[in-house]
Amino acid sequence: MNPNQIREVLIVGGGTAGWMAAAALTRLPPGVRVRLVESEEIGTVGVGEATIPPLASFNALLGINEADFLRSTQGTFKLGIEFVDWGRRGDRYIHPFGAFGMDLEGVKFHQYWLRRRQAGAGSLDDYCLSAVAARLNRFTPASPDPRTVLSSLRHAYHFDAGLYAAYLRRFAEARGVERIEGKVAQVLLRPEDGFVDAVVLTDGRRLDADFFIDCTGFRGLLIEQALGAGYEDWSRWLPCDRALAVPSARVEPLTPYTRSTADAAGWRWRIPLQHRTGNGHVYASGFTSDAAAETALLDGLDGAPLAEPRALRFTTGRRRQQWVKNCVALGLSSGFLEPLESTSIHLIQSGVSKLLALFPDKAFDPALSDTFNRLSQVQFEQIRDFIILHYKATQRDDTAFWRHVSQMPIPETLARRIELFRAGGRIFREGDELFSEASWVAVLIGQNIQPQGHDPLADAMDEGALDQRLAGLRAVIDKTARAMPTHEAFIARHCASGAA
Ligand SMILES: Cc1cc2nc3c(=O)[nH]c(=O)nc-3n(C[C@H](O)[C@H](O)[C@H](O)COP(=O)(O)OP(=O)(O)OC[C@H]3O[C@@H](n4cnc5c(N)ncnc54)[C@H](O)[C@@H]3O)c2cc1C
Repeated sequence: MNPNQIREVLIVGGGTAGWMAAAALTRLPPGVRVRLVESEEIGTVGVGEATIPPLASFNALLGINEADFLRSTQGTFKLGIEFVDWGRRGDRYIHPFGAFGMDLEGVKFHQYWLRRRQAGAGSLDDYCLSAVAARLNRFTPASPDPRTVLSSLRHAYHFDAGLYAAYLRRFAEARGVERIEGKVAQVLLRPEDGFVDAVVLTDGRRLDADFFIDCTGFRGLLIEQALGAGYEDWSRWLPCDRALAVPSARVEPLTPYTRSTADAAGWRWRIPLQHRTGNGHVYASGFTSDAAAETALLDGLDGAPLAEPRALRFTTGRRRQQWVKNCVALGLSSGFLEPLESTSIHLIQSGVSKLLALFPDKAFDPALSDTFNRLSQVQFEQIRDFIILHYKATQRDDTAFWRHVSQMPIPETLARRIELFRAGGRIFREGDELFSEASWVAVLIGQNIQPQGHDPLADAMDEGALDQRLAGLRAVIDKTARAMPTHEAFIARHCASGAA
């Protein structure tokens, strides 16, 4: 064994971030002890119920069975997000996880659709099986056979955040992670180099470790309060700073998608679970009052509320350094982007993957933390731009909030992308971006950003032949979606929770 090997890891915090990290760190060699300290008195943020498809690979890495996981977390399937009232009031579009159509002769599918959109080509959604199935409340997993249109499906999950953390806790504890109940009162730094030496609990217990993972939520107990990593505030682009969350009674049908409805000063989420619906309202306190936000949330419920709304406050942005000395921040302690595209749990997953790929020894070579920090920054900024797009690309001017976000200056990186799309419907992704070209196209078209033309290469195909292919594709997608089981029937058959 390398004498410099890390022997003791301490995860501080046991929300989704803490337990995801704990579960993944069970892959470290047996000589490394992993402990997690959390405080029941403080509790967790208790939200975070919608995800994106890569979570399936996190579960697969851990060997978690999908049906067991969904049964244990009252989980449902998610084929995308329906956006209501975002472009103009009355608009609806789906940002699906699967692709639109298929590229033909090296030309992007949406370019053909742009060419024929005024000539009866239907809506872009009609060419995406995930979107059509979502509208019909149908679900089945993707087929591994690339020759069938069923292979174009991609799915993610909705689940109960508390049950997910409990599920991961059972998983991690069964594999040797030691949980300590206690509240950290003090973080001790080594005088010689400022590395974290230990944390001290309110009852005086001292927990030493070589490596610390800060999963303490918004407070960033180690990364910010002790190590002063700094915070880059992005509220000039994303002014929403509060949320209210409330569960409501389950209603039929069980939709296989998240819904996001734009409101007067923010937006409301609706997340269907097996036993209830999760709802929330993300809003900008500079543009509405808490009371008005609560009324909008409760008025918009489609089932009876099951609890009082819970209030949360946040500042959108990112921790300037997510890895400082011998401490890495994961989850809300590393930064926050509003849940419009359900990216926070993915950011935890991606942080955990980077951490495993760059796992240090006691020398803590700065090349490791520099790489981690650089990659994290790029990822946060790319997701930030995608979220800002939803606000910027609105035609609404009915409230001060929508007038503000439609007129605000935006990051250069996003402005360039919108301009390129307007010029001819082109999207170029850079590096290892999370959101696909189809995602960008879905939101840009869904919010009425009209390209002035299309790729001239899409003109090469004969018009009649193209129309025939488009009609054929629409028909096969519609037929395939209608033959799928309902979301509800699929769950009842494969992964129903007992209590549903
Ligand atoms: C309104 C809202 C909606 C969201 N919706 C989504 C969504 O749909 N999809 C998504 O992916 N993400 C969503 N998120 C983000 C998601 O909730 C978080 O990324 C996720 O829950 C991880 O939180 P966490 O573990 O970092 O923090 P927390 O859940 O806050 O956990 C912090 C932990 O640290 C412990 N702790 C803190 N201080 C101390 C101390 N002094 N001593 C000991 N322990 C301590 C706490 O007890 C707790 O265990 C949402 C967030 C918000 C605010």
